[in-house]
Amino acid sequence: MSKAPKIGLVSLGCPKALVDSERILTTLRAQGYSFSPDYQGADMVIVNTCGFIDSAKAESLEAIGEAISENGKVVVTGCLGVEEDLIRKTHPKVLAVSGPHQYEQVVEAVHNTLPPLHDPYVDLVPPEGLTLTPRHYSYLKISEGCSNRCSFCIIPSIRGDLVSRPMASVLYEAERLVKSGSKELLVISQDTSAYGQDIKYATSKFRGRDVRAKFYDMCAELGELGAWIRLHYVYPYPHVDAAIDLMAEGKILPYLDIPFQHASTKVLKSMRRPANQDKTLERIQSWRKTCPDLAIRSTFIVGFPGETEEDFNQLLDWVSEAGIDRAGCFPYEPVAGAKANDLDGAVPTEIKQDRFERLMERAQQVSADRLTQKVGRTIEVLVDDVDEGENTAIARSIWDAPDVDGNVIIDHTNGLKPGDKLSVKVHDSDAYDLFATQLDTQ
Ligand code: SF4
Repeated sequence: MSKAPKIGLVSLGCPKALVDSERILTTLRAQGYSFSPDYQGADMVIVNTCGFIDSAKAESLEAIGEAISENGKVVVTGCLGVEEDLIRKTHPKVLAVSGPHQYEQVVEAVHNTLPPLHDPYVDLVPPEGLTLTPRHYSYLKISEGCSNRCSFCIIPSIRGDLVSRPMASVLYEAERLVKSGSKELLVISQDTSAYGQDIKYATSKFRGRDVRAKFYDMCAELGELGAWIRLHYVYPYPHVDAAIDLMAEGKILPYLDIPFQHASTKVLKSMRRPANQDKTLERIQSWRKTCPDLAIRSTFIVGFPGETEEDFNQLLDWVSEAGIDRAGCFPYEPVAGAKANDLDGAVPTEIKQDRFERLMERAQQVSADRLTQKVGRTIEVLVDDVDEGENTAIARSIWDAPDVDGNVIIDHTNGLKPGDKLSVKVHDSDAYDLFATQLDTQ
């Protein structure tokens, strides 16, 4: 029997790009391809690129160059794929270029170089498809594209307007993931709270019932699957309020990832984002009344064109007042093709850097204060990793998303393994992490 062709994959960018990579791998695996973790063992390499900001573009171009010099046969896909001319000019040897979620083109390009082997004995694809995340959590992508037009962002011009998946298709995938061992589903999209708007909240049949493609309905349905459901990339629209009740009832995790980006009305307006942060503050306070355990993660851009010291101080105060549990921050970087490039009032690099450092310092204080309040509590955690050398287990609480948030460090491994869910008692905290002792395993 001839050996299955081996594919290498370099996946750059956000969780949405990761989901695209998973789909490509799943399709290729179903066709009998196998995979290599290194360039040398691969017969060819797919590079799934990111083109969000200029530094991501540079990183993508560098990754393509590395794959060409290490392997030679390279297919490029993903967000940077829309700039085919740039890619071909920089790396004339690439075999094929396609844009984001063009799975068929990627697979076709692989077929052209390495035709699939027809082998009736190839391994079957596991029912959940192939995922690049550990088995115990999975990303669930509910839509593609975005119908907003934030002035600093070119995603809508790369990925197009919002295209929501039918509710039933999302639920069948979610159910499959949970059955095959996912204990946590991370709902992702460019704008999760807009889910279904483009298809007028159409109904579809899930297990013989009509289900609506609507944000609240999605949260309620997913909340019945028995896994942790974590919402990412939520816009603070008023209809998000209803989902807070589901959080208070324990149906979905009390966690909201809302990229607020700023707090000054003037800056938000020029970013073309919802711009009434006083109202938003009131809403956050009322969410916390309904669900005191709510954790809010957010990202902010500092040094946006026209941002004054006063605007920035407003943002600093807002982060404290809103009690943003987890914050990421980026100094503003112009992105080729973004409307914000036409704005006056560029902020000098050193001021951007200074504001970045001040915001991160403030965010760290807020995070540390909020984590202190958890000391003494018994909480549920999900183990991600075990460090036998240190005799500790690295877990996450309901307030921590993988990779971007903190951890719960459990004192002793006691036979724990990744994917275990258990109760622990928190005995200490620092700026980002909690420290806890195991009570029992479930
Ligand atoms: S919501 Fe704004 S920042 Fe996010 S993808 Fe859409 S346009 Fe870009």
